[in-house]
Amino acid sequence: LLKRVIKAEKLEVVSHLAASISHEVRNPLTTTKGFLQLLREEDISQEKKEEYIEISLNELDRATNIIKDYLTFARPEAENNHPIEIHTELRNCINVMSPLAQMENVQFNENFSSDDILVLGDPLKLKQSLINILKNGIESYSSGGIIEISTIKEDAHIKIVISDYGKGMTDDQVLRLGEPYFSTKSNGTGLGMMVSFSIIKAMNGHIYVKSQPGAGTSFTIFLPIYLKLSVSQQY
Ligand code: ADP
Ligand code: MG
Repeated sequence: LLKRVIKAEKLEVVSHLAASISHEVRNPLTTTKGFLQLLREEDISQEKKEEYIEISLNELDRATNIIKDYLTFARPEAENNHPIEIHTELRNCINVMSPLAQMENVQFNENFSSDDILVLGDPLKLKQSLINILKNGIESYSSGGIIEISTIKEDAHIKIVISDYGKGMTDDQVLRLGEPYFSTKSNGTGLGMMVSFSIIKAMNGHIYVKSQPGAGTSFTIFLPIYLKLSVSQQY
C-alpha cells in the first residue's frame, strides 16, 4: 500500500486571493465574448454555431465554478476572526452539501469527538475551505459512495479527518494538489484546494493528504484549539 503524506505549505497566496478572482474570471469571459462575436458572422455553418455555443456555455460554467471555489461564503480580503465551535461548523457544512451529495448518491458518515471545541478563525472562510474538500470527495465518486468525517482532540489541536473511497490520486497528483490550475476535471478550476489550503494555513493549521488511486483519499486537518479564558482568569 503506497501512501503519500504532504504538508501543504507552498501557499503564500491567501492575501492574493481577492486580486486573483477578477483575473481568473476574466479569462473565460473574454473567451465567451470572442465566440459570441464569431456567432454574428453570416456564412457560418450550423455545426460551427453549435460548437461555439458549446464552448461559450462551458466557459461560463468555468467562470461560475471559479467564483464558487473562491467565494460561495467568504470575501477573501475580509478578516473576521471569531471562536468557532468546530462540530457545529462541520454539521453546517454537511447540511450545505447534502443536496449535491444526495444527487450523486453519496452519504456522509460523521463520527465526532464529544467535546465542545473552539477554533479561532473566520467562520465563512473555514466553511469555504471545508466545503471545497467535501465537494472534491463527492466528485471522486462516479456512482456514489461514502464520505467519513471524524474528529478527535489531540493535545492542543483538533484533528479532522475527511475520507472518501473514490478514485484517489497518484503520487504526482497528490504533490500537485493545491497548485493553482491543477485539475483533472473537464470543468475543474484547480483553485478549490489552493483556497482550502490557504485558509487552513491562515488559521495556523496544517493539512495532510493521503491518497491511493482506486482506493480513495483522506484529508487530515489539524487546527489549534482556542481556549477561552475563564472569568476567574481575567483581570
Ligand atoms: P477542481 O476540483 O476544480 O479540479 P481542486 O483544486 O478542488 O480543483 O482539486 C484539484 C484536483 O485534485 C482535482 O481535479 C482532482 O484531480 C484532485 N483531487 C482533489 N480532491 C480529490 C479527491 N478527494 N479525490 C480524488 N482526487 C482529488
Ligand atoms: Mg474542487
